Amino acid sequence: MKITSAELQTIAVNKEKYPKDNLFEIAFAGKSNVGKSSLINTLVNRKALARTSSRPGKTQTINFYNINKEFRFVDLPGYGYARVSKKEQKKWADMIEEYLHYRKNLIEVIHVIDIRHEPGEHDKSMYEWIKYYGFNGIVVATKADKISRGQWEKHKNIIQNKLGVENKKLIVPFSAQKRTNKDEVWKVIEEILEV
Ligand code: GDP
Repeated sequence: MKITSAELQTIAVNKEKYPKDNLFEIAFAGKSNVGKSSLINTLVNRKALARTSSRPGKTQTINFYNINKEFRFVDLPGYGYARVSKKEQKKWADMIEEYLHYRKNLIEVIHVIDIRHEPGEHDKSMYEWIKYYGFNGIVVATKADKISRGQWEKHKNIIQNKLGVENKKLIVPFSAQKRTNKDEVWKVIEEILEV
């Protein structure tokens, strides 16, 4: 994919603020610090379009990035901070649920998982949500540079079993640091956009 433009279009906390045009949207969901921002930045060749190194307590928002004026990447707020209150967790869940439930523009949710770690309960719930809403359940397994290539299959198996991923081909190892498999992730996204 040739990137001609990539801009933050809107930041929203509820559906009234979502962009009102008909562009297709591909959303990214994942635990905080998993490498979601780095993935988005790498895909669009920008250093700091999406914020990296999010910290606990920062405002949780849904960020809409307009790509090539043709489609959008949507950065969903990260989950899983041990220290956030029940009230904050509920706010997060309501925000995501509203987006998944109402957003007609949404054509796929890509689930971002750290390749090194067995998915936790929050990851499982997120994946169940993604499947419940009828999406394919594509997983980008980040930080793949942190383990050797020979370990990838073992870690993919763990992710597949824990989340209940139907087909291992849906799990794509990726490294923002080394840009490994950037083209593979784009291939998956291009296939989705052609629908
Ligand atoms: P987010 O909270 O999910 O948006 O995560 P970030 O993109 O901010 O990344 C969190 C931390 O992980 C940062 O320190 C990144 O530099 C680091 N990181 C992200 N992706 C990779 C990767 O592919 N490889 C390595 N080694 N570090 C990464």
